[in-house]
Amino acid sequence: MNPAALSADARPRVPRILAVDDSELMHRLLRTRLQLEQVEIHCAVTGDEGLRMAEEIQPEVMLLDIDLDGTMDGFEVLQRLKENPRTRDIAVIFISASCETMDRVRCLDLGAVDFIPKPFEMAELKARVRSAIRVQQLLRMLSQRAQLDGLTALWNRAYFDQRLAAEFAEARRHARPLSLVLCDIDHFKGVNDRFGHPFGDEVLALFATILSGGRASDIPCRYGGEEFGVILPATALGEAVEVAERFRRAFEEHQWRRHPDLVLTASFGVAEVAGLAADGRPADLLANADAALYAAKRGGRNRVSASALPMAA
Ligand code: GH3
Ligand code: MG
Ligand code: MG
Repeated sequence: MNPAALSADARPRVPRILAVDDSELMHRLLRTRLQLEQVEIHCAVTGDEGLRMAEEIQPEVMLLDIDLDGTMDGFEVLQRLKENPRTRDIAVIFISASCETMDRVRCLDLGAVDFIPKPFEMAELKARVRSAIRVQQLLRMLSQRAQLDGLTALWNRAYFDQRLAAEFAEARRHARPLSLVLCDIDHFKGVNDRFGHPFGDEVLALFATILSGGRASDIPCRYGGEEFGVILPATALGEAVEVAERFRRAFEEHQWRRHPDLVLTASFGVAEVAGLAADGRPADLLANADAALYAAKRGGRNRVSASALPMAA
């Protein structure tokens, strides 16, 4: 995903609430009383259904009853939500008729954010839901920021590592190609030395814009310093080399407004999953792309070098 797609993704959506309660009356009450709030409300009757819907809908907040029909009670539902990385961060508010202090303590200790005793005042429930949504939206924004590079707004190294592992697994599972392009700006230290660090930063930002200009499925990342990695899902080696060549040319041809005679270049190394042994790992793909990048540097810079594919048997 490039940063443009990211900002679309990060746009606040209408918050979703999932209520898990065995009483249809409760569902109706919540639907009618929350309809004027800016929220989307979904309802489930059993714990099983609630867990399935939580994973599918990805609600900000879940309202969960302790006593439920079926095999699972609310405690168990909460435990399972916390065990699943896809539902772990949903804010869970218990709504229960239980007056036992130990039940409340247990809910909160298991990771619920709040406990509302039944019967409740609707105004209070709405206020508590609004508060949970606010915290949830802040947490989502923070976790997204933590994955972005501050200077270029590309994904950062931590995200790169995690996403490369995920795309690698997907590519293997579906026997699909996956390519990686590593890029390094040529003689960048000299750019800083000659024109100053702020101009160096401008160059990095411009280079990032070029890397973001590809397909929406490309995943451009700042790997570190003046090194970048672009993960290209469903892209074979030849195609990835063409993509890198387009990046290379765009950077070389860029007109620097404050330094009209300046020509900056970058080197690129490309590798594909098909070039790895059957037990190859993401680190091997990275090593192959890095070796290709090193070859591009050694070969004179301002060029794209590809890691060889194994010879056909
Ligand atoms: P090569 O062609 O071999 O890649 O040479 P190079 O000068 O680009 O490579 P080297 O690794 O020697 O220098 C990288 C430079 O990148 C050094 C460092 O100061 C600079 N750099 C790293 N991060 C930043 C940054 O955020 N902003 C700026 N302006 N410079 C940075
Ligand atoms: Mg470097
Ligand atoms: Mg460099």
